[in-house]
Amino acid sequence: MQPSTACIHQGSDLRHTPGVNTPIHPSSAFVFGPETENIYPRYYNTPNHAALIQKLSALEKAETGLLFASGMAAITTALLAHLQAGDHALFADQLYGGTRYLIDSEFTKRGIAYSFVMGQSASDFEKHIQKNTKVLYIESPSNPLLQILPLEDIATLAKAYGVVSMIDNTFASPVNQNPIRLGFDWVIHSGTKYLGGHSDLSFGALLGYSVGLSHILPTAINYGGNLNALDMYLIERSLKTLYLRVERQNTNALALAEWLSTHPDVLRVYYPGLPTHPLHEIAKVQMKGGFGGMLSFALADGVAAQSFLQKIKLALPALSLGGVETLVCSPAQTSHSKLQATEREAMGITDGLLRVSVGAEAFEDIQEDFAQALS
Ligand SMILES: *Cc1c(COP(=O)(O)O)cnc(C)c1O
Repeated sequence: MQPSTACIHQGSDLRHTPGVNTPIHPSSAFVFGPETENIYPRYYNTPNHAALIQKLSALEKAETGLLFASGMAAITTALLAHLQAGDHALFADQLYGGTRYLIDSEFTKRGIAYSFVMGQSASDFEKHIQKNTKVLYIESPSNPLLQILPLEDIATLAKAYGVVSMIDNTFASPVNQNPIRLGFDWVIHSGTKYLGGHSDLSFGALLGYSVGLSHILPTAINYGGNLNALDMYLIERSLKTLYLRVERQNTNALALAEWLSTHPDVLRVYYPGLPTHPLHEIAKVQMKGGFGGMLSFALADGVAAQSFLQKIKLALPALSLGGVETLVCSPAQTSHSKLQATEREAMGITDGLLRVSVGAEAFEDIQEDFAQALS
């Protein structure tokens, strides 16, 4: 099945309905059957969970996976299932602010060592691998500077050292990039973003392979970050249009990035689809569907950025991303506000930087709005 078809049909469980949608099973108690396992929401095995995991696994080329009540629940469960006191984990330097905050605030007190790797090649990561390194975790494209990492090289490196590899694929969405195909063990999504797509759901997904899941499941059950059946129904509904939405967001973002690049007041545009992006050639190979709906651009300073946020009319000055409406935010004030100013500057997250989650509106309307706000 092609991905656009899988979005619509894969996983739908129509055995108990003449309808065309998987029924909602809002039960926390399930009757024992002679051949059924013990079904319970926190065991991640309800009928709605199974239907959704089938669809998401097809989209990410995974064997299996788990759904959680937030992206952070997926991230925390995946990491802590593999790390204990005395272990070491390797992280890309450019990570979602919440993930970075989790590592900085929770790992040391659990006796887990970690390194953040600057640099964009597998050899930069190799230098930091230690005897006790158990996990390698990255994002590509990264938040908010859309840094690209060479996925196949990094997955190969992790395999060579027997390290479990994980990637947060939220920014790309499964429409544009399938890291498991390139050798990654685990793909994580903040489904709150593109998978949900309408800025009204909070959930996370962890997708990978069956043998590995048996290792993660006990931790997932202990931590209890499971999701309810009603939300799962809405997610399945959202996923039917994932391909359509992301295709449109890819086109809009590329057009906006190209137009912003020509604007005299824009110092720099960060978008992997631009030939000026330092790793554009690698992005072209690993982002098969398109370059995604996220971009950032730099204005002169914080005053210019704040003025832009006040003047936009159609786009909304809001945190979060991945919905059908265009949103703009200042990473220094939002996702990365918990970091020290010096730490932010070192990462390239200036006060003049604005991050755009490009929506599915008509491009002309987005462009007109940005033009009037910039003027
Ligand atoms: C939002 C986000 C998360 C966290 O997801 P929640 O659903 O808010 O818990 C993790 N990674 C990335 C890249 C995100 O954008």
